[in-house]
Amino acid sequence: MRNMVIIGSGPAGLTAAIYAARANLQPLLIEGKEPGGQLTLTTLVENYPGFADGIMGPQLMEDMRKQAQRFGTDVVNGFVHAVKLTEKPFRVYYGEEEIVAKTVVISTGSSAKLIGIESEIQLMGHGVSTCATCDGFFYRGKEIAVVGGGDSAMEEATFLTKFATRVSVIHRRDVLRASKIMQDRALQNPKIHFIWNTVVEEVLGSRETGVSGLQLKDIKTQDLSRLNVEGLFVAIGHNPNTEIFRGQIDLDDRGYIKTRPDSTRTNISGVFACGDVQDPVFRQAVTAAGSGCMAAIEAERWLEH
Ligand code: NAP
Repeated sequence: MRNMVIIGSGPAGLTAAIYAARANLQPLLIEGKEPGGQLTLTTLVENYPGFADGIMGPQLMEDMRKQAQRFGTDVVNGFVHAVKLTEKPFRVYYGEEEIVAKTVVISTGSSAKLIGIESEIQLMGHGVSTCATCDGFFYRGKEIAVVGGGDSAMEEATFLTKFATRVSVIHRRDVLRASKIMQDRALQNPKIHFIWNTVVEEVLGSRETGVSGLQLKDIKTQDLSRLNVEGLFVAIGHNPNTEIFRGQIDLDDRGYIKTRPDSTRTNISGVFACGDVQDPVFRQAVTAAGSGCMAAIEAERWLEH
């Protein structure tokens, strides 16, 4: 019987592990498919406090894991494919294993939707990004592109004009999905230029030299063209990783886990959720870490009672 099982190994899960381990709860942390989470897809992280010169995303996550292990967290590499949260003790399944636990901390994060072309994955973190807040700063004085037609794409394009000289928004239709106010803001911004009815067929460049351009296709005329940009921001939405919890735990209409205000408590007593899996708004490493800390403290108090 485990005191606590933590599902997911991004900043939220690992921070929960550090706090729980230091409270002597000897948590088990199951890493998931992408150990370290979304930060392992980035290069330099400049906005995580405490690193005056920045730190590489994968390094930050490795350090967090070591810090969690130093205090007695058991970290296992595995993917949780099922949970039973409807009765106590809770049961969590990964590989062939069944874990029985008094509390569960869910920190499975979210995944940015991708266009689905190979060069996009190849150049992720080397000119291709899914987070303007994280990477916009690197594109000062450069020309870049954003893919998407929703609120995220408008917000990211508008934010990126603080750095870039020109931002091309590439949208697959000729009508935006974004709310009127976000559309107007982007449409009126002289640095933003729209390319309609168009998809990205190929991201050009290399991991060594970064992105040099995009091959585009007009889906109405089938015409191919090249757009010279040094960065591509994919802003076509996120999916919270909550499939295995569906039907057992309260989710909002977009699939994010519902937590109580100012808390990581879910509708199930003894189950806590932290990080991007319950936060469609801020989605930052530091806010995820903060909520991971909250989850560990709340779980510890719950166990005491
Ligand atoms: P979204 O509303 O689902 O929009 C996704 C956009 O990406 C759509 O324009 C869609 O095109 C396009 N898209 C999807 N798959 C694509 C693909 N494979 N290739 C090319 N384009 C693709 O997602 P979101 O913009 O992330 O917003 C999610 C939710 O968060 C929304 O409810 C939004 O209002 C909210 N949000 C709010 C704010 C804010 O208020 N500050 C900021 C960000 C997000 P189609 O239009 O053709 O489907």
